[in-house]
Amino acid sequence: MRVNAYAAPAAGEPLAPTTIERREVGPNDVLIQITHAGICHSDIHTVNGDWGPQPFPVVPGHEIVGVVTEVGSDVTRHQVGDRVGVGCMVNSCGECVNCKNGDEQYCVKGMVGTYAATDRDGTTTQGGYSTHVVVDADYVLRVPEGIDSAAAAPLLCAGITTYTPLRHWDAGPGSKVAVVGLGGLGHMAVKIAHALGAHVTVLSQSLKKQEDGLRLGADAYFATSDPTTFEQLANQFDLIINTVSAPVDLNAYLGLLAVDGTMVNVGAPPEPLSLDVFSLIGARRSFAGSMIGGIALTQEMLDFCAEKGIGAEVEVIPADKVNEAYERVLASDVRYRFVIDTSTLEDAAR
Ligand code: NAP
Ligand code: ZN
Repeated sequence: MRVNAYAAPAAGEPLAPTTIERREVGPNDVLIQITHAGICHSDIHTVNGDWGPQPFPVVPGHEIVGVVTEVGSDVTRHQVGDRVGVGCMVNSCGECVNCKNGDEQYCVKGMVGTYAATDRDGTTTQGGYSTHVVVDADYVLRVPEGIDSAAAAPLLCAGITTYTPLRHWDAGPGSKVAVVGLGGLGHMAVKIAHALGAHVTVLSQSLKKQEDGLRLGADAYFATSDPTTFEQLANQFDLIINTVSAPVDLNAYLGLLAVDGTMVNVGAPPEPLSLDVFSLIGARRSFAGSMIGGIALTQEMLDFCAEKGIGAEVEVIPADKVNEAYERVLASDVRYRFVIDTSTLEDAAR
């Protein structure tokens, strides 16, 4: 079927309305009418070519919420009318050690990204800035009642990307967590870490968003532009989640970790970061990375957020405001996630 979408025609070019082909619904597929698609900074890195060449045109979008309108003959876990979500991955081998451990995102054969990736059938995947998508039922999540669809969409990437390291490194009562960067990922990290019971500190470039940060659940808020911040907070944190989309002075942040503390980079800047090993060996510190999260953990995160009444803080926009939204994300002027109302795509490509 041909459906309306918004695509980047080439690296760095503005997105524009277009139509794309979605495959026929196979026996284990689900057809979803998309209602909302979040804008992740990864969408911007991808269409700007920050991470290398891409198979243009690219329809970005891996924070998808919608309603099931058709299911394949073998599908049992989703039904027509269900509210569902799709995150950053739409396939993996299902058989390797990582898939079997529920870490499908680290599939040995390579997980299939929701857009700009080659699917198992050889076609290029296209993402959620679109009216419909066909996805293997095993990669489709249930969106629990109690979370608004627009607020739920960013959970599919920003939510799981921050939930995973918080759970993996046991953030909870008694632990001190710092979140670097209060954007899409950062604001979810604050909400989730707070809900898990940790003591949460925001490290932002300025104090402009301090009031918001405290309202979202932070216990403390510091500006990284103030050099005394790094003196005041030295050796304090058990866990630092770095969500910044640009390179940071890693060694300065590592100095904020307590003995055995871990800094986890989820931010994915195009340039390498430089690490002075003395920042680690002086206090048995660790530096780690983490990518999204497995399917079962994503469902756990959605259920946890519903139970705790957590959704993203969103600014819902029509599709023709996507390019403007990209500019604002790049200027750190996002409060705290743009979400496209994809019903505005219905007429876009006529
Ligand atoms: P975002 O909404 O733009 O948030 C990034 C925040 O970083 C900004 O709001 C800003 O916060 C801070 N920042 C931006 N530029 C900075 C600079 N030059 N120096 C210092 N701080 C800066 O982006 P996002 O959607 O949260 O994504 C963040 C990063 O995570 C991106 O690189 C994205 O590709 C990556 N990502 C990774 C995964 C994964 O699985 N690992 C998943 C999704 C996204 P303040 O204004 O508060 O300083
Ligand atoms: Zn993302």
